[in-house]
Amino acid sequence: MARKPLIAGNWKMNLNHLEAIALVQKIAFALPEKYYAKVDVAVLPPFTDIRSVQTLTDGDKLSLTYGAQDLSPHDSGAYTGDVSGPMLAKLGCSFVTVGHSERREYQGETDELVNKKVKAALKHGIKPILCVGEKLEVREAGEHIAHTTTQLVEGLKGLKAEQVKDVVVAYEPVWAIGTGKVATPSDAEEVCGAIRATLAEKYGAEVASSVRVLYGGSAKANNISDLVACENIDGALVGGASLDGDEFTKLCALA
Ligand code: PEP
Repeated sequence: MARKPLIAGNWKMNLNHLEAIALVQKIAFALPEKYYAKVDVAVLPPFTDIRSVQTLTDGDKLSLTYGAQDLSPHDSGAYTGDVSGPMLAKLGCSFVTVGHSERREYQGETDELVNKKVKAALKHGIKPILCVGEKLEVREAGEHIAHTTTQLVEGLKGLKAEQVKDVVVAYEPVWAIGTGKVATPSDAEEVCGAIRATLAEKYGAEVASSVRVLYGGSAKANNISDLVACENIDGALVGGASLDGDEFTKLCALA
């Protein structure tokens, strides 16, 4: 099955709502609407910017999609500071990253919690971008594939095959995130291929061939073409480079 590539820009904790509007306008100006027939593009701003991005994309009827960087496993209630799936769905979010390595590291998110968040996103019609990937010491020990596919299996635990089709998986080696050290296309393809093989084993060939597997970790305009040329890489989760409108749209145009 032909998979439509996805480029998703993870803004992390950057840009206020006015800066968000300026960046989205820049992206809208640089990427003509016909571009989206070939590639899906999403921006993932902080929660505080989502309403502004929604107003802009709805008002101008842009094909640019957007989402959030996290969600609560709960729908509502006494969870101070959290933001729920129903709230994100109401704001028109198409995607939400789940289990980003920065949340695993700084917020202590476990595979079990990540799995609950994946389910919460799907329950409300939001596609989770499930982030998996190894730290440097795991790669050096030669355990990167086992580690990453275990995170994948745990993150998807309890889902039906039909639901897995709506999940996007992002392979993000932790040592490549924000470091400028991009994985080589063959290293990235090795793990993305193993992710797809694991999906095939657990959910069947049809599901495996329809799930988009992204690469993330210092993706830029100057390395994206070689990455997306790999059989099992269907786009990228882009951090730093997504904050620069010129660099991001150049990267999208090359994807
Ligand atoms: C990320 O935060 O998901 C990411 C891939 O960051 P960067 O592109 O800056 O490495």
